[in-house]
Amino acid sequence: MARSRPSRQRVAADRRRRRRVIAAVLERLGEQYGHPRWAGPRLDPVSELVLTILSQNTADVNSARAFDALRARYPSWDRVLSAPTDELTQVIRPGGLAPTKAPRIQRVLAEILDARASLDLGFLAGLAVSEARAWLAALPGIGAKTASIVLLFGFGRPALPVDTHVYRVASRLGLLPPRTPIGRAHELLEESLEPSEMYPFHVELIRHGRDTCRAPRPICGLCPLTDVCAHYVLVRAGRAPVAPIPRTPVHRGPRYHDELIHGAPPPE
Ligand code: SF4
Repeated sequence: MARSRPSRQRVAADRRRRRRVIAAVLERLGEQYGHPRWAGPRLDPVSELVLTILSQNTADVNSARAFDALRARYPSWDRVLSAPTDELTQVIRPGGLAPTKAPRIQRVLAEILDARASLDLGFLAGLAVSEARAWLAALPGIGAKTASIVLLFGFGRPALPVDTHVYRVASRLGLLPPRTPIGRAHELLEESLEPSEMYPFHVELIRHGRDTCRAPRPICGLCPLTDVCAHYVLVRAGRAPVAPIPRTPVHRGPRYHDELIHGAPPPE
């Protein structure tokens, strides 16, 4: 049986609720995490892309080590592209999954060179966000999240990378329906956010997901969002697990990614 479409009032009410939640996130988590603002590109766009490939399925500290090693060994992206793949694999080994990432980096660089006749992604600044993301996502091994990271961090464009923390916290807050596919999650959240809200929203949800709204059990007793959180209704009713408030402070020290997104200099 065909599912009936929600009424206009229902859509408007849902939109108002989402905006209430987003405003609470930006105000309250912003206060907690220093109101992060995009302060210009931390790296050039190709470096941003390669660093993001290195960070796939590994801790930021490891991907940073691998990125530093790669830049120390090769003076240009052309040299990375022409390096023997086995050698590149050894160089980036500290980043984990090097046998997968080394050929992926070279395939991506080769595709950029083939399509643009140079290893420069500056042209993306002149495309609409949707076009720029589609161009990046057509590169081998690059999905919506990585493409959005390059656009948000490398260009300050209004794109929202949805990583595991953003997805989990947004889902618990009721901003995403259960089991939303990751591509649709990018669309839904971007539709709900103003362009200027994407950077702080992304950073704040990552910090909150690491510190407080952890998987599998959130520490709701420390959260400033209980009054707007859909998941907390289940927690309060005893229908979802919750972690006790730890005796020691939960704010983890800044990690490499945090330092980068708060404006620290890029790796040498
Ligand atoms: S109330 Fe609990 S589940 Fe909801 S956002 Fe806060 S920590 Fe996460």
